Amino acid sequence: MMLYHDVLIVGGGLAGLRAAVGLCDKYDVGLLSKVYPIRSHSIAAQGGINAALANNPNGKDDTWEKHTFDTVKGSDYLADQDAAELMCQEAIKVVYEMEHWGCPFSRFPDGSIAQRPFGGAGYPRTCFSTDLTGHVLLNTLYERSVFKGVKVYPEWFVIALVNDGGQCHGVIAFDLKNGEIVPIRAKATLFATGGYGRVYFYSTNALINTGSGIGIAYKAGVPIKDMEFVQFHPTALIGTNILMTEACRGEGGYLTNKDGERFMKRYVPNAMELAPRDIVSRSIQTEIDEGRGLEHPLGKYINLDLRHLGAEKILARLPGIRNICLDFIGIDPILEPIPIMPCQHYSMGGIDTNERCETDVKGFYGAGECACVSVHGANRLGGNSLLETIVFGKLASFAIDEYLQNGEIKTDEGLLMSRKEEMEKKIHGLIREGKEKPYTILADLSKTMSSLVGIFRKKEELAQALKNIEAAKERYRHVHVSSPKLHMNHELLNAVELEYMLDVAHTIALGAHLREESRGAHFRRDFNARNDTDWLKHTIAKIGKDGEPVISSKKVMITKYQPMERKY
Ligand SMILES: Cc1cc2nc3c(=O)[nH]c(=O)nc-3n(C[C@H](O)[C@H](O)[C@H](O)COP(=O)(O)OP(=O)(O)OC[C@H]3O[C@@H](n4cnc5c(N)ncnc54)[C@H](O)[C@@H]3O)c2cc1C
Repeated sequence: MMLYHDVLIVGGGLAGLRAAVGLCDKYDVGLLSKVYPIRSHSIAAQGGINAALANNPNGKDDTWEKHTFDTVKGSDYLADQDAAELMCQEAIKVVYEMEHWGCPFSRFPDGSIAQRPFGGAGYPRTCFSTDLTGHVLLNTLYERSVFKGVKVYPEWFVIALVNDGGQCHGVIAFDLKNGEIVPIRAKATLFATGGYGRVYFYSTNALINTGSGIGIAYKAGVPIKDMEFVQFHPTALIGTNILMTEACRGEGGYLTNKDGERFMKRYVPNAMELAPRDIVSRSIQTEIDEGRGLEHPLGKYINLDLRHLGAEKILARLPGIRNICLDFIGIDPILEPIPIMPCQHYSMGGIDTNERCETDVKGFYGAGECACVSVHGANRLGGNSLLETIVFGKLASFAIDEYLQNGEIKTDEGLLMSRKEEMEKKIHGLIREGKEKPYTILADLSKTMSSLVGIFRKKEELAQALKNIEAAKERYRHVHVSSPKLHMNHELLNAVELEYMLDVAHTIALGAHLREESRGAHFRRDFNARNDTDWLKHTIAKIGKDGEPVISSKKVMITKYQPMERKY
């Protein structure tokens, strides 16, 4: 069996759905997702989406240019400024578009879309729907895609990208429900496969956020960019690592240490709790490392105190946070502070794309968290990622439309069939006797990443991480799965994904080892300052002939914001 679509979209999160909605009136669009689309990680987004709307009573003179400046400064000047400008300009249009498509945003008393302050932003420009913003955005887009008749393949897992030197011909997919391996031919393929959080042991991300899409593209020879830039969110619930949205601080929450001190005044006295995430995470970790954290059976922590906001505000603005605290740790934030610690949250790096979502391979596109445009550079601002998914999902649909209109595109069925046979052999090869299990290798890999490639990094630790990753790759050669069944075999799926996660982890650790400076979320204790002379450039990783990453660099696009010291 071989399937065909004009356009194939891999990923049913916000980026994938927005692209599908933009293309399905004109083309035959197929959308594959390894989970039901509304179980994508986008559903978990809480705090909001940024746009410089003119209606805000507290920020009437906000503009997209100011939004761009905050984004570029937040990125520690690694963002490509033309892409950041485009995103911030489009932001206003896409938020109103989502509103007109029925997205139930929270409102100001006059009925206009409510906005709250977020970290690193000069204005309160984060639009939201209580603390369920991802939920309402994703459902709005999913309903629209169903209404428009997008052909969705839920629980289909893409295992390989099929491309010859210069052009993409489609993918090889695994239908999880019956275990069939199916080639899918397409004139254009878009990856919207989300981030790589789960290569870390401590992460706010859903278990499905393995980054396999980035690994698949990389294995197929597509360059990936800035992988070393990994965001650590300041406030994850202790023990479970469930996110406590930045909106907790946006609404006025405090961070306090064991002496009850609002310690952010010693680090960033002006911005306090609303400094950007890289800075707040490092401040919290320093408090804990220097003995000013609190002790809990689940680990050391800092308090996120919302009590002074009062019951009414907490119930109106942060009801989901209160429920999570009650359900998972038995704490009511109306009455007690929330125990938090920083942990992995977001992947700044990803598939190297330009602002039209194009990659090095014709007919292959990337959008959303799996892509690195780059609009976030070395550190993403809260509220800018939901924005990126919808803006670049939309722009990908424009670029693909243009590509499909410009001449005939031939796809190679023979190549797809031979790749299918290769993948079949590979999958069957995992069902054998062997001494390694995928979950033990993953546990060791993710612990290496959390302990040696974390918030604070240094040369010897990164070198050790690289050794551990090489060892894990060697162990992977002996991996096996227990059940010979192909349908709904999650151990098999995990084993397939693990191979890609090993590459993703490798490129993160290697990029971090090579980058001898501190910029945004990448902080080297042994090179603790930014070095624009040598390092104002993107890191590009491409797979070499021997399967090892080959590293090069790419220019950062600077338009009107000259790099300067980042002060808040
Ligand atoms: C807890 C949490 C809260 C957040 N809150 C905010 C916020 O308030 N504001 C903000 O701006 N950002 C927030 N973010 C970040 C933001 O939610 C994400 O970056 C964004 O939603 C990612 O969307 P996406 O469409 O790129 O990918 P996702 O929503 O992650 O979707 C990825 C899709 O790809 C599919 N997929 C992946 N690999 C494969 C494969 N190999 N084969 C088939 N399908 C595949 C999955 O099934 C899924 O449908 C938050 C993130 C987290 C984790």
